Amino acid sequence: MPPTNIDAIIVGAGFSGIYMLKRCRELGLSARVIEAGGGAGGTWYWNRYPGARCDVESMTYSYSFSDELQQEWTWTERYARQPEILRYIEHVLDRFDLRRDIQLETRVTSAVFDDAANRWIVDTDWGERLSARFCIMATGCMSTPHVPDYEGLERFEGDWYHTGLWPHEEIDFTGKRVAVIGTGSSGVQSIPVIAAQAAHLTVFQRTPNFSIPAWNGPLSDDDVQMWKSRYPELRQRARGTRVGDIFEISETSALEVSPEVRDGTFERRWREGSFNFLQSFNDLITNKASNDFAVEFVHDKIRERVDDPEVAELLCPKDHPLGTKRMCVDTDYYETFNRANVSLVDVKATPIEEITPSGLKAGGKEHELDAIVFATGFDAMTGALFNIDIRGRDGIRLKQKWSNGPRSYLGLAVAGFPNLFTVTGPGSPSVLSNMMNSLEQHIEWIADCIDYLGEHALDSIEASVEAEDEWMHHVNDAADKTLFFQSNTWYVGANIPGKPRVIYPYVGGVGVYRGICDEIAAKGYEGFTLSGPQDG
Ligand code: FAD
Ligand code: NAP
Repeated sequence: MPPTNIDAIIVGAGFSGIYMLKRCRELGLSARVIEAGGGAGGTWYWNRYPGARCDVESMTYSYSFSDELQQEWTWTERYARQPEILRYIEHVLDRFDLRRDIQLETRVTSAVFDDAANRWIVDTDWGERLSARFCIMATGCMSTPHVPDYEGLERFEGDWYHTGLWPHEEIDFTGKRVAVIGTGSSGVQSIPVIAAQAAHLTVFQRTPNFSIPAWNGPLSDDDVQMWKSRYPELRQRARGTRVGDIFEISETSALEVSPEVRDGTFERRWREGSFNFLQSFNDLITNKASNDFAVEFVHDKIRERVDDPEVAELLCPKDHPLGTKRMCVDTDYYETFNRANVSLVDVKATPIEEITPSGLKAGGKEHELDAIVFATGFDAMTGALFNIDIRGRDGIRLKQKWSNGPRSYLGLAVAGFPNLFTVTGPGSPSVLSNMMNSLEQHIEWIADCIDYLGEHALDSIEASVEAEDEWMHHVNDAADKTLFFQSNTWYVGANIPGKPRVIYPYVGGVGVYRGICDEIAAKGYEGFTLSGPQDG
C-alpha cells in the first residue's frame, strides 16, 4: 500500500498535540494527530490516580491562545482535579472541532526521514504508513511510566498499579493493605487519599521530597472575575517570567536580610502556598547558603506537622537543595503520617529486595500486601522519543545520536533531523515551568516557522551542528551556575538506571528563552539551514 500523504503528522494528543493540530489547520495544512491512548488528554488521560490534580493554579494551567475560551471556561478549584482538567480538554476538542483529525489507540513505532523525497515516513502499530513533510513530536515529557525492575512482580497475587497508567474504573482500597512506593509529586498527592481508604498504608520512601502546602479550595466568583478581567495582562506577564507563571519575584538575597525578615518572608510565602515559596529570595537556586535557610525552614515545618519525631526526621529531605528536585505541593501529606493506619519505611536503610506473592520484602522484613501502587515516576523527557525508532538524514538514529545525552537546538530541533520538531524537548525550559506557557510558546514558534517556510517557497529547515553545539554549551553553562547538579533527580536523568547524567531541561528561564527563540526567528531562523525544492 502506498503511504497516506499529509502535510504534518503530530505524535501525541495531550495539551501540546491538540494545540499543534489547531495551528496546523489554521495554516491550511492537512494534519493528523496520532495518539496511543484511547482518548485525548495525555497526562490527564493517563494519570487518574487518587488525588491527581495540577499544582500550578488552574487559572494559569490552561490555554491562553483564545480569550473566548478562557472567558467561557470556569475552574472550580484553585488546583483542578484530574477529571476536571480532562473535561476541559474534551471541551476544547469540541469547541474547535478537533476530534476528526485525532487518531486514537494508535502508537507511532517509527519515523524515518526519506532524504530523496524530503519527507518523514511514519509507521504505526496498526501497520499504517504515512508520509508527511513535517513531523511534530508532542509525545510528552512525562508519558513513559517507570516501574522499577523488582524481582518477583509477576508472581504478586494482589493488584498493582502505576500512577501514570491508572485504570479507568474506580479502585477501592477499603479494607486493603496497600503499599505506595515513591514520594515524588504523584506519591505525595495520592498517599493522603489512599490512606483515608485503606486498612493500612505502608509508604516506601527512598528519598524524601520537599512539599509545600497547596491551601487548595474552591475558587470564589471574585477570584475568577479578577483573573478573567485581567487575563491578557496576566498571561503576558507570565510569559516573561522565569517559570512562566505569576509569582511575586524577589529582588533580594536570603543572605542580605535579618533572620527575622528571612523567616517572616518564608512564613508568608508558606501561607500563600505552592511554588511561590521558591521565589522567596532571588538566590535560592544559585546559592547553597541561601538555600540552606529555606531547607531549615521547611524542616521545622515538617517537624511541626508530624507527631513522631523519628518519622518527621525521615521525612526531612537532607540530600538535596530545595527546588533542585521538582518540589511537591500537598494537601495534608505530612499529617497523613500521624494516622494510626500509616507507616513509613526508609528504602535506603532497608532496600526492597523482592516482590513476593503476598507482598514485598524490604531489609529482610516481609510486608503483607493486597495492593502495590508504584508512584515511581517516568523516563522523563527522552523516554517517549526513544520508544519510537526515529531516524534522520543518512539513517542516523536519534537514540544513537543522544546516547551520551540529548543534543538539540533550543530543545525544538535536532541537527540531522530536518522538519522534525520536539515540543518541550530536552534543552528547553519545559518541565521547569508552567508547562502550558512553555508548550504554547513552542507550538506558536513551530507554526510561525512552518508559515515562514511556505511564504518563502522553502520546504525544509534543519538545525546546524554548530548552532546545536553552541546551544548545548549554553544549556550546560546555565545549569553549572545553579545547584541542579547537586541532586539526584530526573532533571539530570538519575532516576533511570543507565541514563546519562546531564541536565535535561534548560534552566535559563522561560522569559529569557522566549526572547532567544523570537530573536532567532526574527533573524530568518539563524542557526538553521533553510532550503527549497530548487536547492535539492
Ligand atoms: P502529554 O500530556 O504527556 O501527552 C503526550 C501524549 O503523547 C500522550 O498521550 C502519549 O500517549 C502520546 N504518545 C507518546 N508517544 C507516543 C507514540 N509513540 N505514539 C502515539 N502517541 C504517543 N505541568 C504543569 O505545568 N503543571 C502541573 O500542575 C502539572 N501536573 C502534572 C501532573 C502529573 C500527574 C504529571 C505526570 C505531569 C504534570 N505536569 C504538570 C506536566 C504535564 O505533563 C504537562 O503540563 C502537559 O500536560 C504536557 O502535555 P503534552 O501534550 O506535552 O504531553
Ligand atoms: P518522581 O518525581 O520521579 O518520583 C518518583 C518517586 O519514586 C521518587 O520518590 C523516587 O525516589 C521513587 N523511586 C523511583 N524508583 C524507585 C525504586 N526503584 N525504589 C524506590 N523508590 C523509587 O515521579 P512522580 O511523582 O510521578 O512525578 C514526576 C513528575 O511529574 C513531577 O516531578 C512533576 O513534574 C509531575 N507531576 C506533577 C504533579 C502535580 O502535583 N501536579 C503530580 C504528579 C507528577 P528517588 O527520589 O530516590 O529517586
